Amino acid sequence: MRHKRVYVAYTGGTIGMTNAGEGYAPAPGFLEQHLREMPELRDAAMPEIVLHEYTPLLDSSNMTPREWLAIARDIFEHYGAFDGFVVLHGTDTMAYTASALPFLLQGLNKPVILTGSQIPLLELRNDARENLITALLLAANYAIPEVCLYFGDKLLRGCRTVKVNALGFDAFDSPNFPPLANVGVEIQLNRNLIRAQSEKNLSAPPNELNATVASLRLFPGISAEFLRNVLKPPLQGLVLEAYGTGNAPNNDRAFLDALAEATARGVVIVDCTQCLRGAVKLNAYATGAALLDVGVVSGADMTPIAALAKLNYLISIGNSIQETRELMQRDLCGEISV
Ligand code: ASP
Repeated sequence: MRHKRVYVAYTGGTIGMTNAGEGYAPAPGFLEQHLREMPELRDAAMPEIVLHEYTPLLDSSNMTPREWLAIARDIFEHYGAFDGFVVLHGTDTMAYTASALPFLLQGLNKPVILTGSQIPLLELRNDARENLITALLLAANYAIPEVCLYFGDKLLRGCRTVKVNALGFDAFDSPNFPPLANVGVEIQLNRNLIRAQSEKNLSAPPNELNATVASLRLFPGISAEFLRNVLKPPLQGLVLEAYGTGNAPNNDRAFLDALAEATARGVVIVDCTQCLRGAVKLNAYATGAALLDVGVVSGADMTPIAALAKLNYLISIGNSIQETRELMQRDLCGEISV
C-alpha cells in the first residue's frame, strides 16, 4: 500500500516553543529537530511528513486575517501532493483560524486538522505528543473532507469551535455542534455529521481578506454613543453579540437609531448570541424584533467567531451588501445548522 503523505504547516504556538528565559516563545528549527528525534514518527503506521515551518513563527495572539489567508494558500498550493494536512497553531486564536479556513478552502475534499498544545513538546509532561500523533493519523487515514480542530480527545468541526479552557488539556469545544469524532481506545467517527465530499475541486483562496469588520459584545449599560463610534465608517460589517435569543435593549431610541443609520449606510450587522448553545430567534421577544426593524440580520446558531470570519470573507470576495446579508443567513460550510 502506498505510504500516506501529510503536509504539516507549522505556524507557531506553544507546541513548538522553548523557554529562552523570557517565557515560552517559538524558535526557528527547534520543533523540526525535536520531531526528528521522535521514534514514534518513524513507526510504519505513521504517514510520511513534510514539515513547512513558517517565518516568522507566531504566538497566535499575533495572527491576523493575513495569516489565515497565507495558511489557506499554502494548503491550496500543496493540495494535490498530499493525503491530508495538519496545521500546528497556537491555541489562543486557533478557533478563529479554524473558523476562517473552511470559507477560504471551498471545495475541500481532504482533511485539514488544526492542533497545538497547552504544554510544549519539549516538556516531559505534555499534551503535544498525543495531539500531534492523533492529528497526523486522522489527516492521513480518514475520509473527512473538512477543516477540523483536534485537541484533547475530540475532533471538532473547525467553524463551530471555541477555546473554553485556558489551562486544561480540554481547551476546545464546539458547544453548539457534536464532535465529529471521539478519540478514546478507539477513534469513533460520527459519520452522519461529517460533510459529504464536495463535487467541486478546491478553489483558489481569495486574493485578499481585507474587509473592515468587527465584533461587539453587548453589556448592560452600553451607550448609544459608544455603539455609534463602533459603527463609524469605514466599518463594513459588525457581529453583534447579543443576549439570549439575540436580544438587545429596545428602550433606548438612540441605540436603535445608531443601528438603523448604519444598516441604511450599508453596514451589514449580524446578530449572534452570547450563549454557547442555542440560536438567535429575533421574533421571540420585542427586544429582538426591534433589531429586525432596524435592519439587523440573524446569525442563527453561528458562533460569533465564525460569523466574523464569514463576514470578512463574503465582503472581501466582492459580494454586494444584499448578497452578503443573504449569505450570512445561509449555511455555507457547516457553520449553521438550524
Ligand atoms: N499564546 C500561545 C499561542 O496561542 C498559547 C498556545 O499555543 O497554547 O500561540
